Amino acid sequence: MAFDYDLFVIGAGSGGVRAARVSAAYGAKVAIAEEYRVGGTCVIRGCVPKKLLVYGAHFAEDLADARRFGWDVPDCDFSWPTLRDNVLAEVDRLNAAYTTTLDSHKVEVILERAEVAGPSSVRLASGKTVTAGKILIATGARPQLPDFPGVEHGITSNEAFHLPALPKRVLIAGGGYIANEFAGIFHEFGCEVTVLNRTDVILRGYDEQIRDRLLQISMAKGIQFRFNAAFKAIEKQADGSLKVQLTNGAEMDVDCVMYAIGRVPNTEGLGLEAVGVELSNGAVKVDADNRSSVETIFAVGDVTNRVQLTPVAIREGQAFADTFFGGKPTQVDYGCIPSAVFSHPPIGAVGLTESQAKQKYGAVRVYTSDFRPMKNVLAGRNERALYKMVCEAASNRVVGLHMIGPESAEIAQVAAVAVKAGLTKDAFDQTVALHPTMAEELVLMK
Ligand code: FAD
Repeated sequence: MAFDYDLFVIGAGSGGVRAARVSAAYGAKVAIAEEYRVGGTCVIRGCVPKKLLVYGAHFAEDLADARRFGWDVPDCDFSWPTLRDNVLAEVDRLNAAYTTTLDSHKVEVILERAEVAGPSSVRLASGKTVTAGKILIATGARPQLPDFPGVEHGITSNEAFHLPALPKRVLIAGGGYIANEFAGIFHEFGCEVTVLNRTDVILRGYDEQIRDRLLQISMAKGIQFRFNAAFKAIEKQADGSLKVQLTNGAEMDVDCVMYAIGRVPNTEGLGLEAVGVELSNGAVKVDADNRSSVETIFAVGDVTNRVQLTPVAIREGQAFADTFFGGKPTQVDYGCIPSAVFSHPPIGAVGLTESQAKQKYGAVRVYTSDFRPMKNVLAGRNERALYKMVCEAASNRVVGLHMIGPESAEIAQVAAVAVKAGLTKDAFDQTVALHPTMAEELVLMK
């Protein structure tokens, strides 16, 4: 049977674009549908604009510290519209670059919503139906919203990048990396920030000591935390501010509420159940080859809810293309995926936390270095970095590295190579320190 396309990709984000581009390079006839903007969450309203805001925010501390390094820094004003517009212009540039890449690989870009109409057919919003030998679902995820009266008065990270003005007081709901990153961003810009969390744990999945250190530093900076509380209602006041009622009886007046309580796979209304694609908690269930329960339908990225990170979606898209159009069967290895929280200071981590390692190996050896970075000492900034190395006791193999301190995310990327390679603590010890750096602590731990 002849199809219109060899591959039809739904969603032009990190995973979809990679799969489409590489499959086309292998000679497949490919189309990709996008209902919002080519580039997807990471480029348009995730990692990239977020990191640019983190850079912008960090100048608040750098400018203050510069005075201790002899710079005569006058009182500086921050202009949110300038940063916002420059960031959005960069997003536009990347959006165009992604589109150009798809065009140059002869991938047909269809700027419409698409839904699955059958095992080999896709219905476009315009009403047209097309056929394809394989369909790849790469529709990503969207912010989860809580359910209570007045929920519509809050925003999510999607809207945060477009705020007309900075709120004076902002309440951020959630304890994950997006909540903590935006708490840092808004705080550095001078907003009064409160983080509201249903439990008393932030950054679940990160090492406990590292999470505690971020909490201590964030509180010392002036970010407030309200634990074990949730929303009861939000009412908009005549002056535009928001009156927030919490389940514990407390009330707060703020100017902006942002929900960062998790991300839900985009499977609603996609027609998946009707053709027999199995879902698990709303995510497409796939095997190690990214194949769903329907032979011709595949899924990669956040919509599968395995590891919701851009480099993982990209690897899955690449593996799909290599396997089904490149003749190179490839499965993604999910071990030792490094991750970061771009807080102030940032966290970088790879491998098992101390408690995960204890559960897995029983006996572990833990080495820590708790130090004040040289730059912080001269700047009079009382913030200590914490590095933690977790080793399997029997072999002394490093199974986890966890860091909080300046540049921790950059250091974690390099250190992840050693952890992934299965190096032992001895290999770290045998490496001569590069002095003076913060990363040298990794080879000096006793
Ligand atoms: P997406 O990139 O979400 O792409 C899915 C695309 O499908 C979207 O463009 C959407 O519009 C489109 N779509 C959905 N349904 C349809 C349909 N029916 N028809 C047509 N098109 C459709 N990850 C990191 O690794 N590092 C970070 O620092 C980081 N920071 C983040 C910060 C924020 C604020 C957010 C929200 C996310 C962040 N992420 C980060 C996560 C990262 O953005 C995602 O893991 C990644 O984008 C997932 O890629 P994807 O291809 O699965 O989906």
